[in-house]
Amino acid sequence: MWFRRDLRLQDNRALAQALAQCHEVQGIFVLDQDILTPLPRADRRVEFIVESLAALDAGIRAHAPTPGAGLIVEHARAVECIVKWARALKVEVVYANHDDEPASLLRDSRVKKALAEFGIAFSTFKDHVIFERSEVLSLSQSPFMVFTPYKNAWLKKFTPHDVVAQKSTAHPERWAARPPQAKALPNLKSIGFEATNWSSLGLEAGHAGARALWLDFKKRMPKYKAARDYPAIKGASYLSVHLRFGTLSIRELVKHAHAQSLTGCEGSAVWLSELIWRDFYHQIMHHHPRVVGQSFKPDYDLIEWETGAAAQQLFTAWCEGQTGYPLVDAAMRQLNQTGYMHNRLRMVAASFLVKDLGIDWRQGEAYFAQHLNDFDLAANNGGWQWASSSGCDAQPYFRIFNPTTQSEKFDPQGQFIRRYVPELAAWPDEALHAPWVYEQKKSAPVGSVLGRDYPRPIVDHAAARQKTLWRYGVVKSQKISAPDGKNAEP
Ligand SMILES: Cc1cc2nc3c(=O)[nH]c(=O)nc-3n(C[C@H](O)[C@H](O)[C@H](O)COP(=O)(O)OP(=O)(O)OC[C@H]3O[C@@H](n4cnc5c(N)ncnc54)[C@H](O)[C@@H]3O)c2cc1C
Repeated sequence: MWFRRDLRLQDNRALAQALAQCHEVQGIFVLDQDILTPLPRADRRVEFIVESLAALDAGIRAHAPTPGAGLIVEHARAVECIVKWARALKVEVVYANHDDEPASLLRDSRVKKALAEFGIAFSTFKDHVIFERSEVLSLSQSPFMVFTPYKNAWLKKFTPHDVVAQKSTAHPERWAARPPQAKALPNLKSIGFEATNWSSLGLEAGHAGARALWLDFKKRMPKYKAARDYPAIKGASYLSVHLRFGTLSIRELVKHAHAQSLTGCEGSAVWLSELIWRDFYHQIMHHHPRVVGQSFKPDYDLIEWETGAAAQQLFTAWCEGQTGYPLVDAAMRQLNQTGYMHNRLRMVAASFLVKDLGIDWRQGEAYFAQHLNDFDLAANNGGWQWASSSGCDAQPYFRIFNPTTQSEKFDPQGQFIRRYVPELAAWPDEALHAPWVYEQKKSAPVGSVLGRDYPRPIVDHAAARQKTLWRYGVVKSQKISAPDGKNAEP
């Protein structure tokens, strides 16, 4: 059983199949050098994975009666390593769950071919999403490009059968003893990484960490609709990193949210919608892999973005949370300090980079990819293409978030801003959304100097808005939009 985006024993489809069909099962995870080598040496995701693997290994040891059962973890290139171990252990089948990112599909096709040369089968299963690939199609059998009709078709197709828990803790006696030549589980240092501030964030990796968050969120789910847009409130589930690495089963979450939504719980219905957005973006990537690097709507690649030293300076200010727009800065600092950013703020920060600073969405996408704990190619690309209007069911280009009014609306007392922009702590609530405006009418608090303690805005929003409308002038038409003309906010 080759674990990848599914670091759990519970309700794991490929694992359930392996344990049902084989006399003996050995689990393996590859810390793939092709993925890890380019990463900075301190990366919270690597820490999360290493801790989750230790938990998975401990889970197998606790669960299997076989003495010496446990996970093999290798730091190697996946293609070579999987074939090496499959041959060494004389396995008949390698089981894995689907991973539909373009690079992963290429890796898997190489593994499959290499295994086949030795007569070993490669058997893969859907596990990471509820509906994948071409499972939800329009009446004309084509993939959906607009979310709302996709969601309606998704809900129509959905039955309780789709969320039946997989019996992956059955047959514990089938876990094999770890082979003697397998090395001890690696730690961060042994794979060339350093510790990050992960342990200070109070987040537990592995299935136990996921379960604790899930149980907490289940109680809060009814309030999700009202609370989800306010970053200062504990309104979201914070499960994204666990969903990314599969430390919790998506089926368990959907089963609960769907059942609750049928009882009329609006919070559950809205949260279920978010999980459907996740499936939506995965199927977009499956059908349109060119979105990795290109605009979904090709016209949008005609847009000329700001480049050169001045643009680089603006980009750096955005990355560092030094734009002078407090909500944008708080968002970017939350990302830099914790690896998480609230969904509302992802939209605001992304829109600001593209539509206030005129910088190519791909630069922001890459920055998020490097820093988000929950970085997921399909969701991140979908989010950036939504914000830049180049995506399938995106914000129309002429809708431009105003960072000040977004701040007034979603952080009215500036609680979130104060948490991440302590330089403004002494300013009154009303000043926090646009301190430079406040300073003109009343004066800055004693001891605070705008431009010294906290930057003045690096762009004027009204002027930037006009420039963006001009910049997007090359885009001839919005070819794809929702039937009612209103595009959903993800
Ligand atoms: C520019 C931008 C970049 C983003 N990058 C990522 C990313 O790399 N990885 C990622 O998982 N999400 C991404 N999102 C979507 C969303 O912001 C996060 O999933 C969410 O903030 C995670 O927090 P949560 O688990 O508390 O979410 P909740 O609000 O509790 O949502 C539950 C789950 O639903 C899924 N989900 C929610 N919103 C979306 C969405 N818009 N698209 C797809 N799935 C969604 C996630 O798996 C999330 O964990 C991005 C959004 C934007 C606008």
